[in-house]
Amino acid sequence: RVNRQPLRVGAVIDNAIHRLPQHAAFANTEFDIQLSSDLPLIYADKLRMEQVLVNLFTNAIQYNDNKKPFLRIMAEADEAMVHILIEDNGIGIAENHLDHIFDRFYRVDVSASRQTGGTGLGLAICKGIMEAHGGRIQVRSTPGAGSTFIISIPAFSAKEGEDDEKA
Ligand code: ATP
Ligand code: MG
Repeated sequence: RVNRQPLRVGAVIDNAIHRLPQHAAFANTEFDIQLSSDLPLIYADKLRMEQVLVNLFTNAIQYNDNKKPFLRIMAEADEAMVHILIEDNGIGIAENHLDHIFDRFYRVDVSASRQTGGTGLGLAICKGIMEAHGGRIQVRSTPGAGSTFIISIPAFSAKEGEDDEKA
């Protein structure tokens, strides 16, 4: 089960960045973080939410054809949810693959994927964690230009404690 607590989105993002491996490509990555000013706390499992971001940041840096990796991370909220957008300048994902990349063991068969030798589990794990939080993960992409992954997480509200006891 998920062990939820109120968390600051900025802290979760910073922790995930610090947990990335320190290879050259990662050290060379530029991050642009834009959090909307009135962002609520999220109600989430700290380690699992960091794991989602580590997986997404790792993909965003890995699936890149020799450009300097640039990640724009934005967070905004609506009434109930906080949305974190992770935009990269990588190789992108062709439309026919977009419906499948969240499936376990699915990898796009391009040289950039084969070289990195992943297992195809990262995004399936992200999807499972987001769904366990009552949230979701979405993607849009332009091949050759980059991809944007969007995760949506319930915002923390003062009622949260009561809800847990009723559940
Ligand atoms: P691992 O289990 O090590 O994460 P993986 O990276 O191959 O292996 P996923 O993270 O699930 O597995 O990603 C599935 C596939 O989706 C990748 O193999 C890659 O082809 C594609 N992909 C994922 N993220 C991106 C991205 N940001 N840009 C381009 N392609 C991506
Ligand atoms: Mg991966």
